Amino acid sequence: MKKLVALVAALSAVFAFADSYPSKTISIVVPFAAGGPTDRVARDLAEAMRKPLGDVAIVVDNVLGAGSSIGANRVAKAAPDGYTILLNHIAMATMPNLLRNMPFKIDTDFEYLGMINEVPMTVIARPTMPAKNFKEFRDWLNGHKGTINLGNAGVGSASHLCGLMFQNALQIDMASIPYKGTAPAMVDLMGGQIDLMCDQTTNTTAQIEAKKVIAYGVTTSKRLTVPALKDLPTLQEAGLKGFDVTIWHGLYAPKGTPADVVTKINHALKIALKDPDFIKKQEALGAIIITDKRIEPAEHKKFVAAEIAKWSPIIAAAKEYID
Ligand code: ASP
Repeated sequence: MKKLVALVAALSAVFAFADSYPSKTISIVVPFAAGGPTDRVARDLAEAMRKPLGDVAIVVDNVLGAGSSIGANRVAKAAPDGYTILLNHIAMATMPNLLRNMPFKIDTDFEYLGMINEVPMTVIARPTMPAKNFKEFRDWLNGHKGTINLGNAGVGSASHLCGLMFQNALQIDMASIPYKGTAPAMVDLMGGQIDLMCDQTTNTTAQIEAKKVIAYGVTTSKRLTVPALKDLPTLQEAGLKGFDVTIWHGLYAPKGTPADVVTKINHALKIALKDPDFIKKQEALGAIIITDKRIEPAEHKKFVAAEIAKWSPIIAAAKEYID
């Protein structure tokens, strides 16, 4: 009898907890620098999820470094109470293929909360780059072997993956310059301290439009419809056979977060992804909001597992360019 009373008490504590969730500030950990593309998605999303989560405050906490593994590890080890969640991108699939010592496991250390969007990338160069189009850019790169500086957000990041594919496609080794996000890398690119990088359109569209950087191509297999980017060739059109990189973002909670809390966050995410304001802001920057089944936690998890498998041989084939 005593045991039964204890069990009932424990269960009602769990239900009461889920019932009252959320009752304090939720922190979304962004594992890259403020002002960059991942941060941008998180800040727009935090705003759109606030109302569906009962007007609770949602703050973005930039936990930087090591291609997102430091921030992801922070969330993997956080209290599983729904108050610390992670927003990360394709790094959840590239880190297992690129990092030697991962301090956490992608498949068993997280509850999956649903996917958010897909974002193309652009190949951009410093504003003083003399090349007028992709062909001239390729010629310039070929003529400057051994001196080219390629910015990225650390091993395992989206810019690292895309840069790896780019070097492999051109068969040109470039010096990788790692930053804690592509926001600081963009500052150096605009200032001419580095020559080029790949970055999500959520960070590059405004800079391309303002001519602060020069864009030479998009990484997706189809051209984009965003006015500032619609004239850019795909890298496939420009001659890089099979080049196709799209970045996706998802939300994660520490393993063991109560199922009711997971459902509440997922429900709020679904409402946010239908918010016209969120959609408008994201689409203006080339992002495509997820409307398919990957919005469900189980499908999100399946997709990430499939992406880990998909990128494994592609990354292995480019191994000589991994830094
Ligand atoms: N675009 C960065 C990356 O390369 C991440 C960021 O700064 O948001 O993964």
